[in-house]
Amino acid sequence: MSVLLHVCGACRHRETSHQGGDRGYSGCPCCRDTGDIDPEPLLVQTWALPGWAIEPLYRPGSQWNAGTTHRLELCDCAGCHARYRELAAEAATASSTTGTNLARSGSSSETA
Ligand SMILES: [Zn+2]
Ligand SMILES: [Zn+2]
Ligand SMILES: [Zn+2]
Repeated sequence: MSVLLHVCGACRHRETSHQGGDRGYSGCPCCRDTGDIDPEPLLVQTWALPGWAIEPLYRPGSQWNAGTTHRLELCDCAGCHARYRELAAEAATASSTTGTNLARSGSSSETA
C-alpha cells in the first residue's frame, strides 16, 4: 500500500523511529533523539505484482496492515490530508487525460 510518512531530515528514517516505537532496532544515533522531522509528508509508493500497478494511497489516519505485527497508524495531520487531496486530484486528472496524450505523441513521432 502507498502511504504518506514523515521522515527525519537528518537521518531519513521514519518519524516513528524517533518516537520510541521501533527505536533500538537500528544503531542510528539520531533515532535515539527526537531528530529533525520534516512536517511535509513523504509519499512512499508500493507496487503490486503482477503488473507493477501502483497500489492505492491509504487515507491519512487509517490503519495500515491492521491485525498484523507491522500495524501502523498513519499520520493524521493537516499536511498529510492536504497532500492526500492533491494526489487524489492528480490521479483523477491523469486517468482522464491519458488517452489524448498518447494520441498526440503518436502522431508527432510519425511526422518527425
Ligand atoms: Zn535515524
Ligand atoms: Zn533522525
Ligand atoms: Zn502527517
